[in-house]
Amino acid sequence: MPFKLYNALSRKKENFKPLKGKTVRFYACGPTVYAFVHIGNLRTFVFDDLLRRTFELNGYKVKEIMNLTDVDDKTINGAKDSGKTLKNYTSFYEKRFLFDVKALNILPAAKYTRATDHIQEMIKMISTLFKKKVAYKTSDGIYFNISKFKNYGKLSRLKARELKIGARVRSDEYEKNNAQDFALWKFKKEGEPSWAAPFGEGRPGWHIECSAMSIKYLGMPLDIHSGGVDLIFPHHENEIAQSEAAYGKKFARFFAEGEHLSIGGKKMAKSLGNIFTLRDIEERGFEPLDFRYLTFTAHYRSPLSFSWESLSASRNARKKLEEKALLAPKSDAKVLKKFKMEFLAALNDDLNIPKALALVWKARGRDEILYADKILGLGLDKVKKVAASAGLEALLREREVMRRDKKWREADLIRDKILKAGYIIEDTPQGARLKRAS
Ligand SMILES: [Zn+2]
Repeated sequence: MPFKLYNALSRKKENFKPLKGKTVRFYACGPTVYAFVHIGNLRTFVFDDLLRRTFELNGYKVKEIMNLTDVDDKTINGAKDSGKTLKNYTSFYEKRFLFDVKALNILPAAKYTRATDHIQEMIKMISTLFKKKVAYKTSDGIYFNISKFKNYGKLSRLKARELKIGARVRSDEYEKNNAQDFALWKFKKEGEPSWAAPFGEGRPGWHIECSAMSIKYLGMPLDIHSGGVDLIFPHHENEIAQSEAAYGKKFARFFAEGEHLSIGGKKMAKSLGNIFTLRDIEERGFEPLDFRYLTFTAHYRSPLSFSWESLSASRNARKKLEEKALLAPKSDAKVLKKFKMEFLAALNDDLNIPKALALVWKARGRDEILYADKILGLGLDKVKKVAASAGLEALLREREVMRRDKKWREADLIRDKILKAGYIIEDTPQGARLKRAS
């Protein structure tokens, strides 16, 4: 069954197959580790995970590389403001990001690559661009000359007249109406971290890191490059320009970008001050997987509106699905086979996860639900264990009540029940606790 995926390069759904053998070489743009990622960012990372799991359901192996941007305008400013070294500042947020990845049951990348660990690869690439006269030097850095790359704008469909030939932009992020020569390397400034380079001491611009690291680990062309929709311009556009101008080969065969999470009709963004993190939603009593479920209620190329009501509805749905997985009977083999076909067909139609989810709700057998969980990643296979221990927790609380009321016999009977289930009770100053009997 072909996997049809929308390719932002052609703006069409195309049949996806890896170029070589059965391994998909997949590069996903990762976070800038300068703050807690917000749930708008996390929607993109769950989308990457959905893509990755769908490749795997189609029988492919996936080699996924994700970068961690730990040197750019934002991280440098953040470190300065907090009085920490860049490394100290970014490693804190890097750890928190990986913690969120785990909490959301996002499969880990084969490698998370830090920009600061790949400065030499970036210098080498910039030198190549310099030699080919696609890059030039000014008083504050090395710039990429967009007029020297005739396909500039092919991903974001910039018209030639929108390009400001000869004008330069130094900042790492800028708007579409500012399509100008961009910084590959920024010369040393007082109080900024810097590295020695043949063209002058300094630090990389943002865009070069993804080209250097993706090519190093995956080669050209990548099978697929993903990220959030706001990365199409300038980030992905600049990655294509640098990579193809340097090596004269196609950079990536597919580009797949996920839409925004919106709130009250506006994009959720740190710059707009309307963000929530995973910690914020946990503080309100939700679990990270409630948010994971919420992301499956919209197609990845549609904006998804976040509200506490929609998150609450997702929590209820997820709990019901857990119950369904727990109580459903074993599946009939024929029914299961049909389900697998339909479920895969929905995903292979440009990741139609809302449709796939609707099939799960119609399913009757346990095996269908567990098969679907390879994609959903809601831990539905673990529900039984969780429910059993939840039952024991309730017994433990009941025993506490009995002891408080000095009903020792009843309390001991409950203790025996718990013991039979394979647990012992530890009485601690903080209260009684269950511990697995060894
Ligand atoms: Zn990137």
